[in-house]
Amino acid sequence: MQIESYIRAIPDYPKPGILFRDITPLLADGEAFRHTINVLADRYRELGVTKIVGIEARGFIFATALAYAMGIGFVPLRKPGKLPRKTVSQTYALEYGEDKLELHADDITAADKVVVVDDLLATGGTILAAVEMLKKQQATIVECAFIITLADLPGAQRLQQAKIPYYTLCSF
Ligand code: AMP
Repeated sequence: MQIESYIRAIPDYPKPGILFRDITPLLADGEAFRHTINVLADRYRELGVTKIVGIEARGFIFATALAYAMGIGFVPLRKPGKLPRKTVSQTYALEYGEDKLELHADDITAADKVVVVDDLLATGGTILAAVEMLKKQQATIVECAFIITLADLPGAQRLQQAKIPYYTLCSF
């Protein structure tokens, strides 16, 4: 199945010059969505993964389905101010300004082997912030998984340089 064919390109969204990769057609097609999750579940099933970590917001959709398919737990990395207990956090640069991710401090420990899931890898700023937080918790990162990678942006190269294993289902 060609996952690429279920991703729509929307020019100039959310602002001029951005080609937005819309995953909602993939989610809306039951067979394509199930295939996507099955490919990931088959890849990670025998590796002793203990938690699937998902990045807010679109990462949650794939990460929770994957955790369910694998019968293991899901842990959210959230935008600031959403988690009620003690958190660890990491700030990262955006094109303009900065953003932050937070994790419940006791959700991930040194005993965890995690797969981190987001919908799309672009500059790598978001995933590298996630990786930093998981390193702070001394977790083992089995792999960072994406549905889409934007090949003309440096995310994949930055992960490679940081020696973080990475997997993508498709590239544009
Ligand atoms: P980055 O931190 O630059 O790797 O950006 C990754 C995050 O931004 C992901 O969580 C994506 O959901 C979102 N994102 C960045 N660029 C796009 C794009 N062209 N289309 C859809 N989402 C994007």
